[in-house]
Amino acid sequence: MKKLSIVVPMYNEEEVIELFYKETKKVVDEVSKKYDYEMLFVNDGSKDSTLDKVKELRKKDKKIRYISFSRNFGKEAGIYAGLKNSKGDIVVLLDADLQHDPKYIIEMLKYIEEGFDTVTTIRNRKGESKVKSYFSESFYKIMKEAKDIELKQGSQDYRMMTRQVVDSILQIKEHNRFSKGIFSWVGFKTKYIEVENRTRAAGKSKWNFRSLVKYAIEGITSFTLKPLKISVVIGILISIVALFSAIAIIIQTLIQGKDVPGYASIITTILFMGGIQLISIGILSEYVGKIYLETKNRPDYLIKEKSKDED
Ligand code: UDP
Ligand code: MG
Repeated sequence: MKKLSIVVPMYNEEEVIELFYKETKKVVDEVSKKYDYEMLFVNDGSKDSTLDKVKELRKKDKKIRYISFSRNFGKEAGIYAGLKNSKGDIVVLLDADLQHDPKYIIEMLKYIEEGFDTVTTIRNRKGESKVKSYFSESFYKIMKEAKDIELKQGSQDYRMMTRQVVDSILQIKEHNRFSKGIFSWVGFKTKYIEVENRTRAAGKSKWNFRSLVKYAIEGITSFTLKPLKISVVIGILISIVALFSAIAIIIQTLIQGKDVPGYASIITTILFMGGIQLISIGILSEYVGKIYLETKNRPDYLIKEKSKDED
């Protein structure tokens, strides 16, 4: 019998974790004739009673395992640790808040049986604010520049993969992990399925606008050098304009003998150039900062405790 690992990163999910377990258990029971399962909860340094609740659940169901971090390392670290510690032949990754409806697991398994290596869910943006949709659409447009990966609009971290795909993902050792990109980078035969957008069952989202912008920058700088090239192009364009304006001024002065007026134009030019330069340095430092963090080679997470395996 094949084993299905259900990997769940969690941060302060005490309000929803029991409900999550109940719903997901229902689904795995439906396929229990064909698949054995384990549920691997990755507690990402929750400050509430999430871990206690998981331990409580484990008393009743030994198929539950958990890893608990020493502090909050972020969802990406949670995903990585979950994949690394999963034991199943097939792994499915989903959020604890039931925004990723577990019922799709059955459909996903069907596609894996059909021979797909990974199944990814795409959500529609129904019920999402216009501003948020606009920004996330722009993000996916920019990501189109990254040639190695294909990010579909609305693709999410809810996905299922075979052991082979998981092992491939684990071979990627970079520390700034932008999972969405990494999942796509490894390739393999992928099936996309559309799922409905759901709101959180309980508790609060850990994302705000700022963290989403940070996440987007992380994604862009992880997978494309386009921003660097854009600043080069802007630099070249401005130099050309400056050259023509210099020629014009020389001609004016030499031939027409006109004095050069223009306090305002000089100030504007200086400010404009200063702005462009600072932006370019900013873009550059995003990349340099990444190199700095990578070379430190710090572990992606630290485990404080985990469930003991009886078997
Ligand atoms: N999460 C995590 N570590 C964090 C933030 C979030 O493990 O630092 C988990 C969270 O518990 C949930 C999933 O990642 O299971 C998605 O988080 P959330 O629902 O807050 O994000 P959203 O659905 O709003 O994008
Ligand atoms: Mg959520």
